[in-house]
Amino acid sequence: MLFGKECKTTVKFTFRGGTHLNEHKETATLPTVRLPEPRTVSIPLSQHIGAHATPTVAVGDKVLVGQVIGTVEQGLGCPVHASVSGTVKEIVTRHNAQGIPIQNIVIENDGERTLHPSVKPWGKPLAQTAPSEIIEIVRKAGISGLGGATFPTYAKLQSALGKVDTVIVNCAECEPYITANHRLLLERGETVITGLEIVMHALSVTEGIIAVEDNKPDAIALLQKAVGDNPNIRVCVVKTKYPQGDERQLIYAIKHREIPAGKLPADVGCVVINAETLSAISRAFYRGIPLVSRIVTVTGDCIKNPQNVRAPLGTPYSELIEFCGGLVKTPKKIVSGGPMMGQAQWDIHAPVTKGTSAILVFSEEYDRINTYHSACIHCGNCVTHCPMHLMPNYLAQYAQARRYDDAAKMNVMSCVECGTCTYNCPAGVQIVQYIRVAKGALRMKK
Ligand code: SF4
Ligand code: SF4
Repeated sequence: MLFGKECKTTVKFTFRGGTHLNEHKETATLPTVRLPEPRTVSIPLSQHIGAHATPTVAVGDKVLVGQVIGTVEQGLGCPVHASVSGTVKEIVTRHNAQGIPIQNIVIENDGERTLHPSVKPWGKPLAQTAPSEIIEIVRKAGISGLGGATFPTYAKLQSALGKVDTVIVNCAECEPYITANHRLLLERGETVITGLEIVMHALSVTEGIIAVEDNKPDAIALLQKAVGDNPNIRVCVVKTKYPQGDERQLIYAIKHREIPAGKLPADVGCVVINAETLSAISRAFYRGIPLVSRIVTVTGDCIKNPQNVRAPLGTPYSELIEFCGGLVKTPKKIVSGGPMMGQAQWDIHAPVTKGTSAILVFSEEYDRINTYHSACIHCGNCVTHCPMHLMPNYLAQYAQARRYDDAAKMNVMSCVECGTCTYNCPAGVQIVQYIRVAKGALRMKK
C-alpha cells in the first residue's frame, strides 16, 4: 500500500533533481492571528493572470465586505470584492511589483466589518449542485490560486472537466520560511478537505490525494485522522525537497506521470490545487464568503515578531510589519512570496494581494546578490539539480549571447524559474535571471 497510514513513515514520494534548502520554518509553531482592522486598504483590480477588472464603484460610495467592486465582463478573470466595509476614498493607478500600472480602489475602513447582503451560503446540498454551478460559485467568489501562481481557479476547473481522474491537494509549501499552509492545515484542515470534496464533485473524480511534505508530521497526523476511512481521499507524504510544490513535480512524485512540454496537468489526468485555495472554495460554498482575505507569513531577520497573519486583501505591507512588532534591523530586501520564487518589492506600502503568501524582510546579511561570482566552471551542478531536466548552463550562456532561438531549441520555455540552478551554482552565475531574459525576449517575438 502506497498511501494512507503507511506512507506516513515508510514511503517518500519524490522527483528527480531539486535540492534540500534550509527550511527556516520557525513560524510553524505559532498560531495564526487575525490582523486588527487596517486603516485603509488599496485593492488592485488585477491580482492574477487574466484581464483587469473594471471598477463598479465610484469615489464616495459606501461599500460592505464581500461587495463586488470590480468585474471582468470578457475573457479570463473574476470579480474583485471589498475586503473591509467603509468608503471608497480614491481610485488610483499604482505600479505593482512588476512595474505594471494597475488601478487600485482605496477604501477607508469604518472598522465595522459589515457583510454585504450578497454574502450568503449556497442553498443546495453538494450532491444536488451541478458542476457548472460550482464553477460559477468559484468564479463569483473571485478565487484564484493562492499558492502564488494566481491562475483563476474557475478556469482551471473548467478546463479540467471530463479530462481528469485525480485531484491533488498541494500542501507541499516547499519554499523556505513560508508556513501559512502548514498553520491552515493544523487550524482549519477540515475546510481543505471539504473544499477538496467540492472540487472532486465538480470534476466527477473519485480520487483525491492530499500531498504533504514530511516536515509537517503534526499536520499529516491531523489530516489522516480527519480523512478517516474515506475510500476516495488519501493523505500522501512527499519528501521535503524544493521545488516539490511545483505541480509538475508533485504529479510525477505521486502518480509518476510526466507532463509533456507545452501541456498542462489536465492533459495527464490531474488537477493540482493549493490547500488555501480549497479552503477558500469551501468558505465560498458553505458560507458564501468571497476571497477577501488570506494568510500571510510575515518573517525574516528584520521582523521583531515573525508570525502568520490573516489579513484583508489590500492591507499595506507596512501595516502587517508594524503589527508584527516592526523592524529590528535596517532592511535590505523585501520579498513578496518565498526567497526562491518570490518577487523583490520596492514599496513597503504595497498591498497584500491574492498571491501574497509571505512578506519576507531581510537585512544585508541575507543578501546573496553581492557574493562572489565568476564565469561558468562547467561543474554540471545546475544540470544535476534542475527538476525540469534542462541544461541551465547552456540556457544562461545562450541568453548572455542573445542567442534566444538556440535557447528555445533547448526548451528554455519549459523552465519553471524555480531558481534551483542558481542556488546550486558554485560560480554564482545568476542563471535563472538570464533565463528570464531569454523567455521574455522569446515571448516578445510571438
Ligand atoms: S533551469 Fe529553470 S527549471 Fe531548471 S533549475 Fe533552473 S530555474 Fe529551475
Ligand atoms: S552550476 Fe554554475 S558553474 Fe556549474 S555548470 Fe552550472 S552554470 Fe556552470
